[in-house]
Amino acid sequence: MVLKLIQLAFSSIKVSHLINWFNLIGGTLINILVIAAHADDEVLGCGGSIAKYKDQGATVNVALLADGVSSRVAQDASSNADLKIRNSAAKHANEILDVDQVIFGDFPDNRMDSVALLDVIKYVEDLIVQFTPDVIFTHHSNCLNIDHRVVNQAVCTACRPQGNYSVKSILFFEIPSSTEWQINSLGAFSPNLFEDISSHLAKKIKALEVYSMEMRDWPHPRSIDGVTHLAKWRGATVGVDSAEAFIVGRIVK
Ligand SMILES: [Zn+2]
Repeated sequence: MVLKLIQLAFSSIKVSHLINWFNLIGGTLINILVIAAHADDEVLGCGGSIAKYKDQGATVNVALLADGVSSRVAQDASSNADLKIRNSAAKHANEILDVDQVIFGDFPDNRMDSVALLDVIKYVEDLIVQFTPDVIFTHHSNCLNIDHRVVNQAVCTACRPQGNYSVKSILFFEIPSSTEWQINSLGAFSPNLFEDISSHLAKKIKALEVYSMEMRDWPHPRSIDGVTHLAKWRGATVGVDSAEAFIVGRIVK
């Protein structure tokens, strides 16, 4: 009888899927914070994984640090309108992924290197204090996009392992049209963690379609076809239909 009640209580979640994460972080439901430079990076980098973890009962919050439009147009009424459109798209896309909360920073788009790195670090530190994540997903250090690199450095610095720190795992994602466009082969993106998103690729694509103003036509890598091909290739690399690939920055067990 007791066993049956336990089975009933857990029947609404995919217990088998939780086991890996229980093992990964030591027996509690995970609390994930995605820290990305631009609205759309969170979906491009780990949208399928976000949808998958949410299905498994995780908490997922997303922070988008740059305002996303200020480098494209002068700071005027039209740029404010663009900003509203992009923020609205971000909210909608993250609703599709069932994200708990989206936080918008206002660092200058494609000019985050014009801001003192310490200011970005402090912003990230405040996010960590606010959300106490077990796991952070963020940019890889060798992206072509300068904002991606600044965010990576700020996160790595803010997550220096000292004292009673919450962040046990840091994973770096790839962003089509930035990571693979970096010419420098030293430190190239060479993934060592793959998340099977075969059942969640459709949701990732649905969320990306909300970002139509950011997406391009094939054969641009930041196109629906490009993102789909990458997921299929990452999946083929490890023998599943579709995957997202990451580099492990740190896992503390
Ligand atoms: Zn970006």
